[in-house]
Amino acid sequence: MTSTPLATRGLFIDGAWSDGTGDAAVTVVNPATEEVIAEVPEATPADIDTAVTAARRAFDDGPWPRMKPAERGRILAAMAEELNRRRAELVELNIREAGSTRMIAEMLQVGTPIDHFTDMVDRVLPGFAFQEPVAPIFGNGIGQGVVVREPYGVAALITAFNFPFLLNLAKLAPALAAGCTAVLKPSPYTPLEALILGEIAEAAGLPPGVLNVVTGDVAAGEALTRHPGVDLISFTGSDTIGRKVYAQGAETMKKVVLELGGKSANIILDDADLDTVMESVLAGFITHAGQGCALLTRILVHESLHDDLVARIVGALGFISVGDPADPTTLMGPLIRDVQRQRVEALIASGVEDGAQIAFGGKRPEHLDRGFFLEPTLFVGVDNAMRIAQEEFFGPVGVVIPFRDDDQAVRIANDSRYGLAGGVWSADPQRAAAVAHRLRTGMVVINGGGGGLNPAAPFGGYKYSGIGREFGAYGLSEFLQHKALQWPVR
Ligand code: NAD
Repeated sequence: MTSTPLATRGLFIDGAWSDGTGDAAVTVVNPATEEVIAEVPEATPADIDTAVTAARRAFDDGPWPRMKPAERGRILAAMAEELNRRRAELVELNIREAGSTRMIAEMLQVGTPIDHFTDMVDRVLPGFAFQEPVAPIFGNGIGQGVVVREPYGVAALITAFNFPFLLNLAKLAPALAAGCTAVLKPSPYTPLEALILGEIAEAAGLPPGVLNVVTGDVAAGEALTRHPGVDLISFTGSDTIGRKVYAQGAETMKKVVLELGGKSANIILDDADLDTVMESVLAGFITHAGQGCALLTRILVHESLHDDLVARIVGALGFISVGDPADPTTLMGPLIRDVQRQRVEALIASGVEDGAQIAFGGKRPEHLDRGFFLEPTLFVGVDNAMRIAQEEFFGPVGVVIPFRDDDQAVRIANDSRYGLAGGVWSADPQRAAAVAHRLRTGMVVINGGGGGLNPAAPFGGYKYSGIGREFGAYGLSEFLQHKALQWPVR
């Protein structure tokens, strides 16, 4: 697990690399080894202004928004090719920077976003209706015409640390396909997977200023979301910061798309087969050490199956190898930083104080003295009103809550300020679907289908989980304005 520091080229603004105007740097740390792997500039408000000005110029005067979608598609196809060419390098970078296990890095962190990017180029963009006729309606103001879907303008793209490459591309693909220009600001924990997109844009011939990548944290994010030159914000992160971003964007009437947290329920009805639910139940809180917004971290199980399920989960957790994420046999890696681990530990302590019991884990693994690791942890005896059932851990912690009947399961699942995802398991798909329809969430996985990876399905939240959708044509629509052109019927 040794790290050679990576060479970086600074901020990517207007098609060129620069060190920025400030002296401060963002230090990037490998969360499994605690070694410094790179330093990148902390962008100042002046750097943000330069980046937004470049994006503004590329939008107002440049060719990008005025190109035919097929022309943009050709440059995006070249980007897809470049992404594929650098796939292996991206996997290694993701393991070092985000602490992903090799399997997660290859599939969810790098494979899925490249597939989604390619899908945007090959399927969504060519088939998308950028114009639609308006039929004449007789009554007041007879007219006919066309609705033109135009690029929204300059987009500020701000992302979280957990799936950096996926989140960056989930915003960049639709923003660029729509004809917007963009300033991307990744999490200060994981800036390298965003900066590499500058190199990919350069290699693919994206016109200067269409994509700008700036690094930094709160000050950079604030400057970007308050900047009058930005028309739209697409933000992924916590609901706490999401509310601030919403308010910061409101001052200059920006469109704001928010992809926020979750505390999703995995509902196991009384006729479910426990053999088939186990993979989903475990993945629901240990995938990427629980650092996933759409993970199914509240395990709601019919009371008749409760003890059997808990025994099976506890048995299985004993086989989860925690450690070096680069080792292909490792099943769970570290949390992103010590501060995040301490937050998770404090919430675990609150669960114990509130009277819940730890059935497995709860501590730092004894065999690892470096890295921000935590044992996979399971709580039982949980009441849905407890903090551990209401707040996002963003760590490898699941809570088990029993229910009496389908109505009570739905009530508990919906008794959350979040509404991002959900799961339902039943031997009777109709019954599972009936429960799924009653959940106030943006996505429900029925009997293990899909799981949020289908680029044709929208991804996004109800309630505090956010506003707007990502992926495919739904994601593309967020980056478009609708203009109505009408003329008289003759
Ligand atoms: P965070 O909210 O702490 O930070 C997100 C981003 O906001 C970072 O880039 C940060 O630098 C920036 N930021 C901080 N203050 C800002 C401000 N005042 N103005 C503008 N930008 C600011 O989130 P995190 O800890 O990086 O990520 C974890 C959270 O993200 C979890 O809540 C998780 O559920 C959520 N998430 C949601 C999705 C989704 O698609 N719904 C996906 C991944 C993660």
